[in-house]
Amino acid sequence: MQPLAHIPNLHAYVPGEQPQGDGWVKLNTNELPYPPSPRVREAILREVGEDGARLRLYPEPLSKQLRTAIAAYHGLESSQVIVGNGSDDVLNLIVRAYCDATHPAASFVPSYSLYPVLLGIQNGQWLEIPLDEQMQLDPQQAALTEASVLFITSPNAPTGVGYTLDTLRAIAKAAKGLVVIDEAYVAFAKEDATPLLKEFSNVVITRTFSKAYGLAGMRVGYALAAPEVIDMLDRVRDSYNLDRLAQVAALAALEDRAWLEQTVNRVKATRDATAQALTEQGWTVYPSQTNFLFAQPLDGAGQRGAAVAASVFESLKAQRVLVRYFPKHPFTCSFLRITIGTDEQMGKFLNAIQTWRKQEPQK
Ligand SMILES: *Cc1c(COP(=O)(O)O)cnc(C)c1O
Repeated sequence: MQPLAHIPNLHAYVPGEQPQGDGWVKLNTNELPYPPSPRVREAILREVGEDGARLRLYPEPLSKQLRTAIAAYHGLESSQVIVGNGSDDVLNLIVRAYCDATHPAASFVPSYSLYPVLLGIQNGQWLEIPLDEQMQLDPQQAALTEASVLFITSPNAPTGVGYTLDTLRAIAKAAKGLVVIDEAYVAFAKEDATPLLKEFSNVVITRTFSKAYGLAGMRVGYALAAPEVIDMLDRVRDSYNLDRLAQVAALAALEDRAWLEQTVNRVKATRDATAQALTEQGWTVYPSQTNFLFAQPLDGAGQRGAAVAASVFESLKAQRVLVRYFPKHPFTCSFLRITIGTDEQMGKFLNAIQTWRKQEPQK
């Protein structure tokens, strides 16, 4: 029995490595280095109860309480919110509802590499739009695309660069299809795109609890959009796409705004100090509005390039410091993406770079 013709040719999304064993400084998948709000743990234990009996029962299928809380948080109606098993689930629902062989989707390159993977699964066409040298996007390019869905990672990954609300507004105005603004890192940014929801019915904003809220392991994300769009996404959703524990965990995390603000501020302070330390060593660092840095190493001989980036990546890994390296694209192959950890972790990272510097001339 053969699968559909396009299935054997698919390449699954390649997530960053989850190393086994202790002693790693893990700066490769943009997780938060701090635990989530203590209210999350309490809420999960409360839900599990004395004997776990509640786990016999299916979760509330619409995650209504969570939708209502998210809507209130953003000053929207709950009909404008859908939640998913991570924002990846929500992105998948968008592709499922709006894309196929004759309804392509587009995204800027480089940006989040899951979008083309989702298109592939749907046997849909993916159109890439290049960013400019400053890693900025051109609204006119967006206006030209025939895509039914345009994905914009904002702030962008892996570059960390933020786009202004005015740029995103120009795109929303010009685009012919749905404009999906993936705000996975927005808690670390200067601006967010939610004002556009009041101005445009073709704008969808996706968010996640995986990064700033420190809940990557719980798998919760959501989308904000016009009720008509949310209605379509609900039609293609798995009936129980959020389990009981995920629903109460996200609700508790959302309610503890002080915790979020405090951890985000710590990450931003560490980010800016690390960026400065790298810049002082001659590395090129894009201004980051996220919890990671996109940085181009400089070696002792004054060289930059793919070989230098690969050499730093391998040396760091041998020293049990894991960052992310994207060798395949000319825009990314001379850079490393470094997640912001604790001050202590970043100290170890900077020390490991010193060790690389000392090793590197003998190579
Ligand atoms: C991490 C990330 C996501 C995925 O978030 P989940 O909620 O964990 O699925 C989505 N978009 C971008 C750009 C990300 O970096």
